[in-house]
Amino acid sequence: MEAMSMSVGILEIQGGFSEHRVALQKAAENLEIKNLKILSVRKAADIVPSLSGLIIPGGESTTMGLFISRNNIASALQEWINNEKHVTWGTCAGLIMLANESEKQKIGGQPLIGGLDIVVSRNYFGRQVNSFQEKVEILDKNLYSQENIPDHFEGVFIRAPAVVKVTNPKVTTLAVLPQPDSQGVIVAVRQVNILGTAFHPELTEDLRWHSYFLKMIMSIQNS
Ligand code: GLN
Repeated sequence: MEAMSMSVGILEIQGGFSEHRVALQKAAENLEIKNLKILSVRKAADIVPSLSGLIIPGGESTTMGLFISRNNIASALQEWINNEKHVTWGTCAGLIMLANESEKQKIGGQPLIGGLDIVVSRNYFGRQVNSFQEKVEILDKNLYSQENIPDHFEGVFIRAPAVVKVTNPKVTTLAVLPQPDSQGVIVAVRQVNILGTAFHPELTEDLRWHSYFLKMIMSIQNS
């Protein structure tokens, strides 16, 4: 693959942004992306024209929403995300922020950024199960570790949301959490240039999701 450079921003309000940095760096080395610049995004002026990707990490979506509205960065983020030349990835609370609708919101709702035509349930797995690790079934073969074998990923879930409804056929389900007596719960989706995962790949050694995100940027840049 041809060596190339790119700039990726991480919305650094809270959550695992340093782990995302490390994983992105490693994935970029494997893909021979030279000079990956990882920029911190905390205000509208940080959303610079050279950015081609953006990660919205986990944390607390209510706190993130408040920070975004108090600092007036919602419209700059929305404008950036809606441009199909830009690739955005939300993990956990980041997925909630990217949903166009959230179920069981606090009274008065919570400010979301939007972009994905899905309905999320914020604490889908309940309060008792704060955190767990389980095998996620991957449905997109671009994420398989081996060719043509239905594959699994060790999903780390921390007060995790789930996608309870998809409202646009452009949304592809990339991964589900298998359930004993029902269809799997949707835990990873993609809608054109926007990726969302309910779990935290940055807390594992498996770089497939970071590589997938970087490959989305490469294919959009080359199209
Ligand atoms: N359920 C949390 C929320 O509502 C998200 C938790 C996480 O990002 N680890 O924001």
